[in-house]
Amino acid sequence: MSEFNTKLIHGQPEYDNNTGAVNVPIYNSSTYVYPNADAKVKFDYERSGNPTRSYLENQVALLENGVRGFAFSSGSAAIHAVLSIFSPGDHIIIGKNIYGGTFRIINDFFKRWQLEFTAVDTQNPEEVQAAIQPNTKAIYFETFTNPLLHVTSVKQISKIAKAHNILTIVDNTFLTPYLQQPLNLGADIVIHSATKYLGGHSDVVAGIVVAKNENIAKLIYFNQNSIGATLSPQDCSLIRRGIQTLAVRMDRHLSNAAKIVAFLQKRPEIAKLYYPGIDDGSRDHEIAAAETNGFGGIISFELKDGLDSTKFVNGLHLIQLAVSLGAVESLIELPYKMTHAELSRKEQLEAGITTQLVRLSVGIEDPKDLLKDLEQSLNQLTSTSLKKEAVR
Ligand SMILES: *Cc1c(COP(=O)(O)O)cnc(C)c1O
Repeated sequence: MSEFNTKLIHGQPEYDNNTGAVNVPIYNSSTYVYPNADAKVKFDYERSGNPTRSYLENQVALLENGVRGFAFSSGSAAIHAVLSIFSPGDHIIIGKNIYGGTFRIINDFFKRWQLEFTAVDTQNPEEVQAAIQPNTKAIYFETFTNPLLHVTSVKQISKIAKAHNILTIVDNTFLTPYLQQPLNLGADIVIHSATKYLGGHSDVVAGIVVAKNENIAKLIYFNQNSIGATLSPQDCSLIRRGIQTLAVRMDRHLSNAAKIVAFLQKRPEIAKLYYPGIDDGSRDHEIAAAETNGFGGIISFELKDGLDSTKFVNGLHLIQLAVSLGAVESLIELPYKMTHAELSRKEQLEAGITTQLVRLSVGIEDPKDLLKDLEQSLNQLTSTSLKKEAVR
């Protein structure tokens, strides 16, 4: 078996054409010929399966070390398909700060179908343990939360889950299989918004699920095929291509993030810096150091009170003001006005989302240019606030 970086490039060949093409073609065919009416065919109809999609699904299953992968038309569709394996009356423990869209589908959709949920801080095993009920079927969390990068131990949680015959479901969007393989740490299902790092170029919306065993895979496949939110062959090809450069992109995301953290640590405008790579003796750092191969490309920070966060993000020239993350270009946003605007001010503050909080998805540009851009916008902040003070 080849090494991880080789698997990224080569995946599992489909051997599906006789042209010698080095990439699996984009099969734009919704239906497939049966050689005869009794034939057992591998592909019959695109929603049920397609060679381009198969390639991608096998590629990700290989990287996550699962038995089978599934590609969906978005991360949200992937989450919907996974939560749809449960039945009315089932109880699921969820991480307190899971992705907002996941929270919305749970609260405004699955609760109507009588799934029950309890939100806990999954970093704290006692809280998880205490939330387990006789009808608990799964624990669902993100290893690094968004935007505050609070870290959960996949090992610890899946150990508790196994003892109670409960499934562990991990949204691995922030880390990718390059930095963590949750199935190897004891999880049963991995979910990705492939829109982010796997795709990596902000040009496609996609979702991936990988199952650890055949029983789970059968349930997910039923939902994928019957609900039908599958990924188109064109988009499968884009994600396949994105994955080939995952390792080189992640290495640059990591080194750029480390440089930006070091820069921000020295800046007087920064009140608080959130990055699991900072060795501050926290549980976040301890768990991340033990269970990941790197601390990711997302940094969050709070500007000091009195400094205008809106002015700061508006003042950047290279780093673009946009939601989403995980692509080659650096993106910055204000969670309280953008990604987390749906929350009431009270809910925002409970989640640690202040008006001073900024989330930066570090891209793979030349780090000097990123630092220069951050520096000039920080400088204009303090120079104006200093000016104001002078006037006063
Ligand atoms: C973006 C995101 C999702 C949702 O994925 P879409 O592709 O936007 O539907 C789910 N989980 C996390 C952690 C995300 O960042």
